[in-house]
Amino acid sequence: MNPRPTPSDCGCADLPTTHSLTPDQALCQIEAAMQPALSDTETLLLQAALDRVLAGPVDSPIAVPAYTNSAMDGYALRAADLPTSGTVALTQIGIAWAGRPFAGQVGPGQCVRIMTGAQLPDGADTVVMQEHITAHGDQISIDDRQQAGQNVRLAGEELQPGQAVLAAGKRLTAADIGLLASLGLAEVTVLRRLRVAFFSTGDELCAPGATLGAGQIYDSNRHSLQAMLSRLGVIAVDLGVVRDDRDAVRSALQTAAATADVVITSGGVSVGDADYVTDILKELGQVKFWKVAMKPGHPLTVGRIGNAHFFGLPGNPVSAMVTFYQFVQPGLYRLMGCPPALRLRFPVPCQDHLKKRAGRLEYQRGLLSQVNGQLVVHSAGNQGSHLLSSMSKANCFIILPADNAGVQPGELVEVEPFAGMI
Ligand code: AMP
Ligand code: MG
Repeated sequence: MNPRPTPSDCGCADLPTTHSLTPDQALCQIEAAMQPALSDTETLLLQAALDRVLAGPVDSPIAVPAYTNSAMDGYALRAADLPTSGTVALTQIGIAWAGRPFAGQVGPGQCVRIMTGAQLPDGADTVVMQEHITAHGDQISIDDRQQAGQNVRLAGEELQPGQAVLAAGKRLTAADIGLLASLGLAEVTVLRRLRVAFFSTGDELCAPGATLGAGQIYDSNRHSLQAMLSRLGVIAVDLGVVRDDRDAVRSALQTAAATADVVITSGGVSVGDADYVTDILKELGQVKFWKVAMKPGHPLTVGRIGNAHFFGLPGNPVSAMVTFYQFVQPGLYRLMGCPPALRLRFPVPCQDHLKKRAGRLEYQRGLLSQVNGQLVVHSAGNQGSHLLSSMSKANCFIILPADNAGVQPGELVEVEPFAGMI
């Protein structure tokens, strides 16, 4: 992974808040401002720990495997008995089952029938797969194609007692939960969940389920935000819709900041007469920046109110989602104490003509697919920042740099699969 730039490397440290930042500069400022913020911990049963963030490192309390065992169904024997040419006949003296070890000792000329996972009997150091032997009663014939020590999992070959297994800050995956269980751990200590309060602003907003009045639209942002936040395992506190009224916005921001680690709003950060959010943030807290040279998502306000970090997302539904994925999500991971997520971007031939004017970096919505083993990307349709249907159809961003002035079919473009796709 590329090392992430710091504000001093990338030159964004001393820019005025009115400066329009590049997306990389905006991300750099967000990551620098959002240092791990959580120290309270809780201990959870494994069943409840998926997606939670480890509070400290986990070392293995045991050797894994705990005992030397067979990787195959077959016959356990001494390597010294393997023939260098021709075949050898060994006498089967017992059976080793998974969970029921063979109690005796394997001596010269002897073998034990063994199942996958069964403890290797004393004296044996090699397993021959059952498909590679011929059996006549208790006489087992083995040929000269076998290797000493084969098909054996040695005690401690994966982990030694005390060996580091998981690092602090790891966001627990299904594999991590299985790994912790394999070490005999029933509980795990994780950081408390980040509290993220959010609300929509706008006099035109109507709740889904109600009938639209004249000039109204349904409030979709609060619902896409809730869905994106729930994927991150934070406590998402929905504060509803706030009218385009200075006092109402001020009081909602104060309430949100008093109870949450992070406050996210949508709408009201542009330059319209009813866009109060950035002004009120200046009054109550601090604006870090509010313009990013990108499309969609040009107005994006980032700052602080009291102890809470603040993201004011643009109102257009696609802009709100794009800025969430590109900026809010990495910022939240940072606060949660997780290492930066891998930002997977790679070039793919574009199958469509893409319209773009040189000027701002664009995150267009694309549909990545595989045709005869080759990855290709199509446009997901009309790119208007108010059109959620192209966002819903898409599975990736097509990232077109600021100086790009359109794409012809067959040209390579950079794509970034949506979070959670890979
Ligand atoms: P604003 O950023 O408040 O100027 O809003 C820009 C556009 O996004 C306008 O067309 C708004 O009606 C629309 N919009 C604002 N908030 C929402 C929302 N919560 N859900 C859907 N559309 C919204
Ligand atoms: Mg508005």
